[in-house]
Amino acid sequence: MKRILILGGTQEGYALAERLADMSGIEVISSLAGRTQSPRRPKGQMRVGGFGGAEGLARYLRAEKIAHLINATHPFADQISTNAVEAATAAQVPLLRLLRPGWRAQAEDRWITARHMAEAAELCRREGGRIFLTTGSNDLAAFAEIRNAHFVVRVVDAPETVPLHDYATITARGPFSLQNELALMTAHHVNVLVTKNSGGDATSAKLEAARRLRLPVIMVERPQIALEPRSPVAEDVEAAVAHLLAAL
Ligand code: NAP
Repeated sequence: MKRILILGGTQEGYALAERLADMSGIEVISSLAGRTQSPRRPKGQMRVGGFGGAEGLARYLRAEKIAHLINATHPFADQISTNAVEAATAAQVPLLRLLRPGWRAQAEDRWITARHMAEAAELCRREGGRIFLTTGSNDLAAFAEIRNAHFVVRVVDAPETVPLHDYATITARGPFSLQNELALMTAHHVNVLVTKNSGGDATSAKLEAARRLRLPVIMVERPQIALEPRSPVAEDVEAAVAHLLAAL
């Protein structure tokens, strides 16, 4: 029996666990950080919470006799991705990065690229108005000083405090339909969308809606570890399964 550890918290991490759990000779463990209140529970085993840095993850890999580590975390989860590289090297466990491709601007798109969240905040300050903020609850502090904008903030779980001057919170979990996104942006009179370049289909309807409404999009680029991952990469679940079956 080969034990596979999936660092998850994403749709594709969930889908991969479901796929592998049905295969003979494989035991799958999904790991979640514990950020969302009621995460979807994939088939197989599940553990929740940090490992205690790269050393903790390396200890876990050895203690649990993990045969293959799969980093299926979000493209912006740079700390755990760095830890995965270090821990896999230290414990001599092969590592695969499951990483969906980033979005690319289409001809009619009006993207303004931000290298990081602070730059996105500066661009918001310049735009002002009514801003649809979809970067997640962990990144709100970057926008705290902005006083010339009303933020429409969409998050999975309502945060205890929102460090913004003027805002409305929408709690909802994707995927969202194009109809939903068009209706939301129109109802809130949104004049600019802010998003991370997460990639994938599940959250792309907002980009199509912005395209149709001819709205500018402040697009936050991926962190370096996602732009230059230091292990083999599978872009989707099927490619990850094929890689694993060849490796085990
Ligand atoms: P991060 O900054 O890269 O990681 C911070 C710490 O959280 C890590 O050092 C690790 O703690 C723990 N951690 C993160 N992912 C974990 C996992 N799958 N299993 C166990 N521990 C984990 O991570 P983040 O950006 O806050 O993301 C946290 C989780 O939310 C990830 O699983 C990610 O896939 C998911 N997510 C993130 C985003 C985003 O925009 N960042 C969006 C959607 C989903 P220790 O050092 O103690 O091990």
